[in-house]
Amino acid sequence: MKVFIGVGHGGSDPGAVANGVKEKDLNLSIALACKDELKRHGVEVKLSRSKDENDTLSEEIKECNAFSPDLAVDIHNNAGGGDGAEAFYHYGGGKSKTLAENILAEIVKVGQNSRGAKIRKNSSGKDYYGFIRETSCPAVIVECAFVDNASDLKILATEGDRQKVGQAIAKGILKTMGVEIQGERLYRVQVGAYLLKSNAEEMKKKIKAVGFDAFIVKE
Ligand SMILES: [Zn+2]
Repeated sequence: MKVFIGVGHGGSDPGAVANGVKEKDLNLSIALACKDELKRHGVEVKLSRSKDENDTLSEEIKECNAFSPDLAVDIHNNAGGGDGAEAFYHYGGGKSKTLAENILAEIVKVGQNSRGAKIRKNSSGKDYYGFIRETSCPAVIVECAFVDNASDLKILATEGDRQKVGQAIAKGILKTMGVEIQGERLYRVQVGAYLLKSNAEEMKKKIKAVGFDAFIVKE
């Protein structure tokens, strides 16, 4: 499994600038955390940039198509005074739409509100955004928060907050690929299952006697 992560803006292009932050820096923190979480699940990841450097959209698209990933996500933050996260998908829907919806569902779980998954077309009826139009795999653009809305920006206040959003994006990607998320489910160790409660109590005593905690669950 391969995933390409576009890291919006960079170098001489800061993206949105407001409230003492530059979009390019937020995008990079979020993308790096997203990459780590995907790698932890055995996914091969390529970032369009891993430091602050010029990274044009046309380069991003070229790199993405050369890598030939299963899915691609371009990470951005918004401007224009709105509130919440939104994601754009291919106007044809399909996996691109599922990916956008899954990413937003995970971002909502870390406390951000969602403006929804959307399409945007240009005057020729194709996707407005080049990253969605010109990449050859299902692709999504995610806008995590509004840089020019101080209260919305709180979701990205600390490096830890940015990592949480990055990990949320990764989970949305993993769910779209059908990968089980590690750390979300409990692995139980069972010793026995008995029809008679007295036998269950007896086993519980034996387990406790050797120093382990034990409890009985009725099914
Ligand atoms: Zn941007």
